[in-house]
Formats: sequence, structure tokens, C-alpha cells
Amino acid sequence: MAYEKEKQVAIAAATLAAKLCEQVRADIPQAIEKKDKSPVTVADFGAQAIVCQALATAFPDDPIVGEEDATELRKPEMAATLTKVTNYVQALLPDATSEDITNWIDRGNGKVSPRYWTLDPIDGTKGFLRQDQYAVALALVENGEVKGGVLACPAMSFDGGTTGALYVAVRGEGATMLPLSGGEPQPLKVVTSDNVANFRFVESVEAAHGDQSRQNAIAQAAGITTESVRVDSQAKYGIVASGKAALYLRLPSPKYPDYRENIWDHAAGAIVVEEAGGRVTDMFGKPLNFADGSKMIDNRGVVVSNGPIHDKVIAALADN
Ligand code: AMP
Ligand code: MG
Repeated sequence: MAYEKEKQVAIAAATLAAKLCEQVRADIPQAIEKKDKSPVTVADFGAQAIVCQALATAFPDDPIVGEEDATELRKPEMAATLTKVTNYVQALLPDATSEDITNWIDRGNGKVSPRYWTLDPIDGTKGFLRQDQYAVALALVENGEVKGGVLACPAMSFDGGTTGALYVAVRGEGATMLPLSGGEPQPLKVVTSDNVANFRFVESVEAAHGDQSRQNAIAQAAGITTESVRVDSQAKYGIVASGKAALYLRLPSPKYPDYRENIWDHAAGAIVVEEAGGRVTDMFGKPLNFADGSKMIDNRGVVVSNGPIHDKVIAALADN
């Protein structure tokens, strides 16, 4: 099996990070505001520390492009926050010191390279704070192509039962889903048009992360007649990959016309959907560019589909 070690390390790392997030979530996390005004929590820092520690041990030469960095956390006025992060990490890695933790977090300052990992320690922090969906998203990229991806979604129900789902994909080997607590992986397959109940579309809960009125119009033009299902984070990719929706639309918000998508918000989700038989492009039908930098500067919006409706969606976007 290709990338077997990468896959096992990524699964273990994302699962452990998800455990930390769930502990923080049970304690009711508070938001800290970042310079760009977006929220971060002790769990974002703790999850990044855990994943970077695991990757540093298994693949010491691989750069990691992560969302967070420890610059603010090292400041004296953040000492109480760093102590909290340290306590959560130590519950899982007892020997970790605060210094280890800030160093691990800063391993996430790597650059996009011929081979690198990209990590969103908590994708959907706003959902996490609302006790809704969020994901630990980790992907391996080689020569601009995502080769493997893991999405841990602790708030996602698995087959309507156990809470916590793990989506896993390796290029050319399909995508699977298993309970986050462990179990038999089940193959993932996107939906076909005869499954009327699941032929719906997903979009962000946060209106400012897209263009909900245009998304609705485009979905209708592609033949989807029901209202959207609104979900935070890359859990949306998991929903499309598992055939629970045919389409995920993320069109540029009219409020932020210059926004560019981050690689860590899409790499893991994209391979999960592609390996489940679906398609992922930007709104013009261009492949997402994971080769050049942490922002996908030459892509606009994201379209994720079951495959057969993709061209119709791109055509509708050109017309509307
Ligand atoms: P979601 O939960 O799907 O709404 O996506 C959460 C992600 O949206 C965060 O990780 C942010 O990186 C990203 N984000 C922040 N602002 C915007 C924006 N204006 N447009 C699109 N995505 C954004
Ligand atoms: Mg994110």
C-alpha cells in the first residue's frame, strides 16, 4: 500500500488532536482574537502542537504548513493561555513542556515545498465555539498534488449512532470513513442522481464565508431543488464524499471580494471527495493550486460535487 506509514501517522495524530479538542469543547472554550480578527482557542494551539509533534517524530524532514503559529502565545501577557494549552497537551503527552509545545506549534511555519504537509488544527473554529461541526484537517502534498488526507470530525455522527467520524483518503486507493473511536473503515462513494433525498447541497453556516444567495441560485440551476444544509468546516467535504449531498458551493463573499482560500481549508477535504468519486475545482473549473503558497491566489471560490453535475454547475456559474 502506498503511503502506508504516512496514513497511519496522520490518522493517529489527527485522532489524538481531536481528543484534545473534545476535552476543550467539554470545558466550554473561549475565543481569543487573532490579528486578522478571526477567533482562535487553546484547542487550536494544542491540536497543532500534537499533530506537529507526531509528524516531526515520524517525518523530521517534512515541512508543515499549519494555520497557527506560537508568536502571540510566547508573549508574557499570554502566559495564562500557554499554561492552559500546556495542561491540555500534557493530559495526552505527559512529558510535554510549554517550551516543547510552542516549538511544535512553530514547526507549522513551514513553506510549501515539493513535499509538505498542510494542517488546519481546527477548521471551523466558529463552529467549534458554537458546539457545532469542526474538523482537524491534515493532508500530504507532493509536487502540488494531494496524496493523502485525513479529516477528523468529532461532532459528526457516524451512521446516525456513535459521534465522531474520521475520513481518510490516499491517492488512487479510495476514501473510507470510520468511527473516530476506532472500527472498521467503510468505503465512501458520492451520491448518484437517483438518490433524490441526498441530492442536496451544503454551504457554510457563516454567511460571510460565501455568497449564499448566489449559491442557492447556482444549485437550483444545477437541478437541486431543496434548501441548503449549512455546516461548518471541511465536514462539508465529508458529507459530499459519503453521498449525503451532491454539491458543496463556496463562492466569493461580496463583502470580501479579494479573499483567497487557504490550502489547509481544502487539501484534506478535496482528496477525500476525489477518492470517493467526486470532483473539486474552483468556480471557473480550474484545479485548486496546492503548489505555490498557503493562499490559492489564482483560484476563486470552490466547487465540490459528486462528479456528474460538476460541468453543469461550472456552466451555470459562467452564466449567472
Ligand atoms: P467554513 O466553516 O466552511 O465557513 O470555513 C471556515 C474557514 O473559512 C476558516 O478556516 C477560514 O479560513 C475561512 N474563511 C475566513 N474568511 C473567509 C471568507 N471571507 N471567505 C471564505 N472563507 C473564509
Ligand atoms: Mg480553517
